[in-house]
Amino acid sequence: MEIAPGVYDLTPPRRGYLKGGFVHAFLIQDGQDLILIDTLFDADAQVILDQIHALGKTVSDLKHIILTHGHRAHLGGLATLKKLSGARIYAHPWEADIVSGDRTQQGVNLRPISSSLVVWPILFFGTLLGPLSNHKPAQVDKLIDEGDQIGPVRVLYTPGHTPGHLAFYYPEKRALFTGDAFVTWPLICPGWPNAMLNEKQTWASLRRLAELDVQAIGVGHGNPIVQNGKQVLQELAARGKL
Ligand SMILES: [Zn+2]
Ligand SMILES: [Zn+2]
Repeated sequence: MEIAPGVYDLTPPRRGYLKGGFVHAFLIQDGQDLILIDTLFDADAQVILDQIHALGKTVSDLKHIILTHGHRAHLGGLATLKKLSGARIYAHPWEADIVSGDRTQQGVNLRPISSSLVVWPILFFGTLLGPLSNHKPAQVDKLIDEGDQIGPVRVLYTPGHTPGHLAFYYPEKRALFTGDAFVTWPLICPGWPNAMLNEKQTWASLRRLAELDVQAIGVGHGNPIVQNGKQVLQELAARGKL
């Protein structure tokens, strides 16, 4: 699905969709080049390769792979895509040695929250986190941080969910890619209370994102928001107590 001109939402077919926690990735067509944001769960990267071919492109047109953060569900196809395309891999310094396999990802507290959502976090994070399966490591080629630019995409530092979490803004298309800064599955939620390593930072990051001129938002888990993105972010940010 195209969520903005030249911006494609990538998600596995229904079967197997749950195992990455309804994870999504995004492909941007920038002239001749393709830019990929995150790499889904599956190590074969087939969904991403299929989308590249559907655009009449080949895997060698994939030039840049930019990562929101170093969690398993977003790193599945990374090593395969690197091998096939030779694309440059970009990540924040705090996440890069997780991506390369030199450090395990940080633990997330699976303590249930006291509400009707109790079941969800266990299901959600149990499938995404923990040592159940590891991603195939890949070296990060370039460390990125706030203010860096990859083609038409600007890097925003949005810590909270993880210390090195990044979002990516494509101002020309009014599109924003927010990784796990918030989720839309199973409901629009400003970060699960037990999955924010730093809750205060999470809220600050959301407030900051809510200031941008945004129509479409590609989130890490759940369906993208295709219109009124700014309003959605403003409503989310307003829930913050910290
Ligand atoms: Zn995550
Ligand atoms: Zn995630």
